[in-house]
Amino acid sequence: MKFYVRTYGCQMNVADSNEMGRHLKAKGLVETEDPDEASIFLVNTCTVRQHAEDRAFSEIGRLKRWKQKAAGRKIVVTGCAAERTKDYLQDRFPFLDLVVGAKSIEDFAPMAERLLSRRETDEDLDYAVPAIGEKVAAFVTIMRGCNYSCTYCIVPYVRGREIYHSLDQILGEVRDRVAEGAREITLLGQTVNSYRHGQHRFAGLLEAVAGVDGVERIRFISPHPFYMTDRVIDTMAGLPQVCESLHLPVQSGSNAMLKAMKRNYTREEYITLAEKMRRAMPGMTLSTDIIVGFPGETEEDFEQTLSLIEELQFDWGFIFKYSTREGTPAANLESLAQELIEERHQRCLELMDRIAALKRSRLVGTTQTVLIEEGLFGRTRTNYKVHLQGNIEIPAAEPGDEVRVLITNASRTTLEGEIDHDNVAFENFRQEDCRACAPEQQRQ
Ligand code: SAM
Ligand code: SF4
Repeated sequence: MKFYVRTYGCQMNVADSNEMGRHLKAKGLVETEDPDEASIFLVNTCTVRQHAEDRAFSEIGRLKRWKQKAAGRKIVVTGCAAERTKDYLQDRFPFLDLVVGAKSIEDFAPMAERLLSRRETDEDLDYAVPAIGEKVAAFVTIMRGCNYSCTYCIVPYVRGREIYHSLDQILGEVRDRVAEGAREITLLGQTVNSYRHGQHRFAGLLEAVAGVDGVERIRFISPHPFYMTDRVIDTMAGLPQVCESLHLPVQSGSNAMLKAMKRNYTREEYITLAEKMRRAMPGMTLSTDIIVGFPGETEEDFEQTLSLIEELQFDWGFIFKYSTREGTPAANLESLAQELIEERHQRCLELMDRIAALKRSRLVGTTQTVLIEEGLFGRTRTNYKVHLQGNIEIPAAEPGDEVRVLITNASRTTLEGEIDHDNVAFENFRQEDCRACAPEQQRQ
């Protein structure tokens, strides 16, 4: 019996999908990339913005025909939109077999078990041995939920308050992923660096994960600026496994907007923090999330966001149009005109893209250490995806290998490069990465 998973939304959802997939595999099911082969179709939904929810719901609507095409097919809908709209989903799509909200993902295993034992037909169950995962870069969820109350955000409502996994559970999962082939671990949480369990805090967790044999790279997402303490920064800088790349959502460059969003930091504090991070980890790439068109955003506020992007020269960023989420405090505020939000979105994208392209162009001609993830694709420590020129049939490197790559083209977000076979000692790699990404710092 095979299952197919469609995931919408963030890395937390990808990690949840992987976790649910592991439960299904443990029950003998096999994952497929072809929905036509599947008996179970799992849609893991997102509700952070209306657009993501709409896309998932229209897919669920189309699944009615998929289900009718073969006996015994089952549809499972999970995730944040499932949490927010459980009753509505079951009313609108009565053909769904199981709806599991984001708060109940940890109960997925028994729910799936009940679903599987509810077989109406005698399907041809081949209880295959679960496949060994081949993922070189794996996600490990360290906490669920969020204790913040950013006024635009639905996450605390659909995922609940913070619940932390124990250090032992996290390290156990890290070891499992390494045993399956992972070399890189990304720790996940909505405010991942607010982690606390017993006397353990985030910095100690980083050290413990770095101590697991076989972990070569560590990343985490999404940290909140408020919890980016000196202890966390020093730990990051001191651990060779922690990659020189930080995704630190800022949301706005205007103090008035940051206050209205209840982000708990000012523009100045964010800038000071970003500069401190760059000093601690030279060559680090810094990326961010930005929301344009939050209610009440004036042209001046918006220009503050543009000037922050200019000032900090982010390496890349995700620019979101504000989307009203019912039930959040901001939903009671008067929205800006949609055309204005679109126009600001375009202006912000153009600026971010221009800076990102300039930063990437500086990488051409440099040599980067790339961890091969799949086929001809890998990633630098600074989190650029790299496509290796070469022959997919006779790959020069295997998934899990770290190779030195000469970057030959950076016009797209995925860099292109060729393996550099010159023999350079490993200790030099980080130094080279640094030179490539921060030529201005090297010149000073
Ligand atoms: N917990 C993370 C943090 O605080 O940085 C972010 C989690 S959220 C799933 C990812 C991004 O979606 C946010 O950083 C924000 O930019 C964006 N986002 C959240 N709610 C939004 C909304 N109502 N409209 C537009 N973008 C939104
Ligand atoms: Fe949402 Fe804010 Fe929590 Fe991030 S920190 S999940 S933006 S409430």
